Amino acid sequence: MNKLNPVKITSDLIKCKSVTPNNDGAIEIIQQLLSDAGFKCQIIKRNGIINLFARWGLAKDGLTFCFSGHTDVVPPGPTDTWAHDPFSGIEKDGLLFGRGSADMKSALAAFVSAAVNFTREYNPTGSIVLVITGDEEGEAKDGTLAILDWMKENLEKIDHCLVGEPTSKEYLGDTIKVGRRGSLTAKFTAYGLQGHVAYPEKAINPLPALMKLLLKLEKKILDNGNQFFDPSSLAITSIDTGNPSNNVIPQMSEATINIRFNDIHSDISLTSWLRKTIQKVMNETGVSIVLEVKVSAKPFICHPDDFTKLVSQVIKTETKIFPSNSTSGGTSDARFIQEYCPVVEFGLVGKTMHKTNENVEVKQIIELSSIYQNILKSYFKMVDAVD
Ligand SMILES: [Zn+2]
Repeated sequence: MNKLNPVKITSDLIKCKSVTPNNDGAIEIIQQLLSDAGFKCQIIKRNGIINLFARWGLAKDGLTFCFSGHTDVVPPGPTDTWAHDPFSGIEKDGLLFGRGSADMKSALAAFVSAAVNFTREYNPTGSIVLVITGDEEGEAKDGTLAILDWMKENLEKIDHCLVGEPTSKEYLGDTIKVGRRGSLTAKFTAYGLQGHVAYPEKAINPLPALMKLLLKLEKKILDNGNQFFDPSSLAITSIDTGNPSNNVIPQMSEATINIRFNDIHSDISLTSWLRKTIQKVMNETGVSIVLEVKVSAKPFICHPDDFTKLVSQVIKTETKIFPSNSTSGGTSDARFIQEYCPVVEFGLVGKTMHKTNENVEVKQIIELSSIYQNILKSYFKMVDAVD
C-alpha cells in the first residue's frame, strides 16, 4: 500500500477555511485517511464544534500512545497583505504557504501519516490514539475538553501524549515543551462619584485610584522563575473610561491585566494578592473597586521522565540536536491532557505562526513525520533502544 504523503495532506488541510469555530471539511479529511487505514473513528460534536477521536488497536493490549492536535486556525487578517491566498496551500521555493501551515496543520499531517505508515509496517502490542480538535485557537471549551469528557464516559485511556504544536525555535528539534505557564485575567471596575471637573471636591474620580492600583501591581516582581519556568509576568492590557466629555469627572472606569504565572504561584494566591492590594487602594482613596478574575490555564510541568527522554533521544538521533526543555509561550491543549497522562509537546519551527504569509519548509514536514514515526517505533520497542 502507498505511504501517506504528509506534504499533500498539509496542503489539503490548508485549503479548508477552518478558522475557529469553522471546520470546512478539515476533520473529515483526517477521518477518511484514518478510517481507510483501519482506525476506529468517533466524531465528537459539542456546541457546533467538530472533534475527532481515533484509535488503532485495543487499549487492553498494552500502552496507548496519543497524538494531539488542532485543525482550527486563527483568521488570516487582510488577505491583500499575503503574497498568496492564505487558503491555497501553495508550494513555492521549498516552502508551503497558508494559514495553519505552521500552527499546526503540517504537524497534524505529519502525525497522521506517521501513525498510518507505522501501523501498515508494524504490528505493535498496544494502541495508538489521535485526539484532534477544531477548537484550540478559540475558547477551547468544546475541543479537547469535549474529547476528554467523551473518553471518560467511554472508559478510553491514554498513557502518554505528544502534542504537535510548533515548539521548535530556530531548527527542527531544538526545543520541546514539558509544561506551560498559567494565564489569569483580572478586570477591575472602579466606581467613584460623577461631577463637574471645576468642582472636584464634590466628586470622587475613579481614575487616580485605578492608576494607583495598576502601578502597584505593575511594579511588583512576582518571582524570579525557577529551574523549569521563566519569571511570572504581569501586563496591563486595557484601561477604559469611555468618557466623551472633558468637563465631567467620570463615575466609572475599568482596567484589565493579564498574568502569565509559573508554579511558584496559584490562581488562588494571585487572586488573594490582588484582593489585598485592591483593599489598600480602596482604603486610601475611598473609591470602590470590584474584581473579576478569569483563569484560562493553570501552570503545569511534566517532570522529565522516561517518556520525555525517549522523545528527546529520537529527536537527537534524527536531527543531531538534543532538544531543550521549555515551558515558555502561550497556552495549549497540553494543559488539559496533562491531567490524564504525561505530555510532551513537539513540532516544527513556529516562527511564522499566526503571521501574514505563514509558511513551513516542505522538508521539515517530511522530517517531522519521520521523527514522529521513529518515536512510535521507539515507544513500541520496534527498534533497538536508541543510544
Ligand atoms: Zn496551535
